[in-house]
Amino acid sequence: MSKLPKQKSWAEPYKIKMVEPIKMTTRPYREKAAKEAGYNTFLLKSEDVYIDLLTDSGTNAMSDYQWAGMMLGDEAYAGSKNFYYLWDNVKKYYGMPYFVPTHQGRAAEHMISKILVKPDSIIPGNMYFTTTREHIELAGGKFVDVIIDEAHDPQNTHPFKGNINVNKLEALIKKEGAKNFSYVFMAGPVNMAGGQPFSLKNLKEVSSLLKKYGIPLWLDATRATENAYFIKIREKGYEKKSIEQILVEICSYFDGLWVSAKKDLMVNIGGILATRNKKVYEEARNMVVVYEGLHTYGGLAGRDMEAMARGLEEMVHFDNIKARIGQVEYCGKQLEKYNIPIVYPFGGHAIFVDAKKFLPHLSQDLFPAQTLASEIYIDSGVRGMERGVVSAGRDHATGKHRYPKLELVRLTFPRRVYTQAHIDVTVESIAQVYDDRKKIKGLKMVYEPKHLRFFQARFKKL
Ligand SMILES: *Cc1c(COP(=O)(O)O)cnc(C)c1O
Repeated sequence: MSKLPKQKSWAEPYKIKMVEPIKMTTRPYREKAAKEAGYNTFLLKSEDVYIDLLTDSGTNAMSDYQWAGMMLGDEAYAGSKNFYYLWDNVKKYYGMPYFVPTHQGRAAEHMISKILVKPDSIIPGNMYFTTTREHIELAGGKFVDVIIDEAHDPQNTHPFKGNINVNKLEALIKKEGAKNFSYVFMAGPVNMAGGQPFSLKNLKEVSSLLKKYGIPLWLDATRATENAYFIKIREKGYEKKSIEQILVEICSYFDGLWVSAKKDLMVNIGGILATRNKKVYEEARNMVVVYEGLHTYGGLAGRDMEAMARGLEEMVHFDNIKARIGQVEYCGKQLEKYNIPIVYPFGGHAIFVDAKKFLPHLSQDLFPAQTLASEIYIDSGVRGMERGVVSAGRDHATGKHRYPKLELVRLTFPRRVYTQAHIDVTVESIAQVYDDRKKIKGLKMVYEPKHLRFFQARFKKL
């Protein structure tokens, strides 16, 4: 008799009904494609990619229930029934009474910043996100990072690296004066820290501190169900609570929130601005007409809102999130078997490969993470993205490269899209590149755009 394994395998809580064929390519084909794309994975044609781990944004597979809803789009200019259904679900799952739909998360960030940010005021948060910070700064505010120090250390295994350092935050308020703060925001799990969650204990401390000083607290709820999942499995007292209960409890501490529906809600497009502050709501409802469209569609088709409403119902299923985060964890554990250097703990949405350790013979001037992302693509057609010196850009004052501590390749998992076999292929390819790492030479930048250069920069092989 064979022995049963100690830990039983798990499998995804869905099966495949429709398939999207992907092109199988050869190494010479990919060498040519990579060269044509200037060794920048953002410039590859999606058609030439075998397994696409560039981002989890809008790349999700919708369910049959969501697709069925797409046929029920009420495309009236005003008062679409899909809008009212979505609003009911926003109340139910986020516990916020007021809601304005937007075409993406950044459109909600734009409006929140315009409404709440006073010129020259301070807006602290648990690390920055690219679009969040951009809109705060465009509105004349100043972002300050108040995340705990552990978040900046890739090897630190703190279970809640998304927490705010409450002492740091209070010291900042005392130094600058509470009236100079527009609001504080929290995101969870924190994307730029590697998908790291905050705890409810930390949230409660932040909330009571801010109540004392009369400063509002806002939530970037883009991946909040993943944060709720980590609270359920890591925080004492929440083991028996459902994701739905934890999510509502999280939201109860916030004055309002914004969401990129392209993540948690498992749709391809959409955003949410929701709040319990009636005055902010009224301003947003008025402003959305200027930038997005009428407040009952906000830049979306009725069918998109229906898919979002149904996505809200599916996103809180424990088995769904467990399978999603389980895929990320599986990938991390397989990479460990080959001793590939990665960031800890594994994030909710992605695994980050440490390119500095992977290619120690390359200085940051030779763009190790950019090089590694392109080598992985050439080896197998797997597409990841650079998060290192190219993404960090140049210092505005000196014109020199910013050299970030973290030089990473991000492998991000779209929801319900790939199987464990795809992950095995990904892992084996990275292990192959690791075996051949000494032969890898690095890149030279030959074209550099002025803004957000990582999207369009071009390179040549050395
Ligand atoms: C994607 C994202 C956004 C921006 O949303 P878009 O829908 O891409 O405009 C904001 N915050 C976080 C944490 C995100 O991941």
